[in-house]
Amino acid sequence: MDFDNMLMEGNLRYKQKLMNGTEKLITSEKIPKYPLLILTCMDPRIDVHRIFQLNQGDAFVLRNAGNTHTPDVLRSVLVATLEHGIKYVVILGHFDCGMSKLRVDLLRKKIKWNVSIKDLVDFFRPFKDEIQHLNEQVKILSSLPQLPEDVQVIAMIYDIKTGFVFENKIIENYDSNTAFWKDYSSFLKEKGEFLYQQNPVFQQTQSFQNNTSNSEEIKAENNTKPQNLENLTETIEPPMLESIINMKLPQIRIPPVHIPEIKIFIPKIQKNRINNA
Ligand SMILES: [Zn+2]
Repeated sequence: MDFDNMLMEGNLRYKQKLMNGTEKLITSEKIPKYPLLILTCMDPRIDVHRIFQLNQGDAFVLRNAGNTHTPDVLRSVLVATLEHGIKYVVILGHFDCGMSKLRVDLLRKKIKWNVSIKDLVDFFRPFKDEIQHLNEQVKILSSLPQLPEDVQVIAMIYDIKTGFVFENKIIENYDSNTAFWKDYSSFLKEKGEFLYQQNPVFQQTQSFQNNTSNSEEIKAENNTKPQNLENLTETIEPPMLESIINMKLPQIRIPPVHIPEIKIFIPKIQKNRINNA
């Protein structure tokens, strides 16, 4: 595949969108809108802006294999905190991380590097357990003497299979994936029920139930509460998540957004007129 061409064509499409107003060029600020830096893994399933619904320019984002503290991460974190007033550093880990499966012994056979396995482990920093690794990274980064005292370093973990992020106050209570998975179903139930309660369709049907002629129909829609969420009392192991992923939350209906076509008039500049002026 011609990636050079693919990227350049993509850039032309971007440029077209800038011209018709469906994309916006952000040129004013070099520092983020929020005093926030997110360190996450390079895994392509993680799109920080999407999963937190952030906009371009809202936060600094650093990525590497395994959301791991490295000298280069420290370099960027220090620039962000000391020079640009960043106060919150979020280390966003994720389950099913490739670095938790990395076999350094196999990697050693592919790499042109005559060093010991131990040296390779020290270099690549694989880990076995995402929660344990995440808590370690927070501990290391937050205790660095170079970091300003008012900077808060917190952990979050992204669940690739459901799209949920589990926050610091949950993760800090667990020292391993195994311990976390034991309570996973109750966290999921809590988050699922919260989503259900927040759903505008659900709220709307509640208030309409008494004064609409088709209230039975609305009740039926209302009852689309995911059955799976009510049956989550047992411990669920990650491979058994399929039923949860497929849980049916009521659909949120968003009215279509009309984006008017903007025509930009670019006046022609006559060269000799500029020269004469
Ligand atoms: Zn990863």
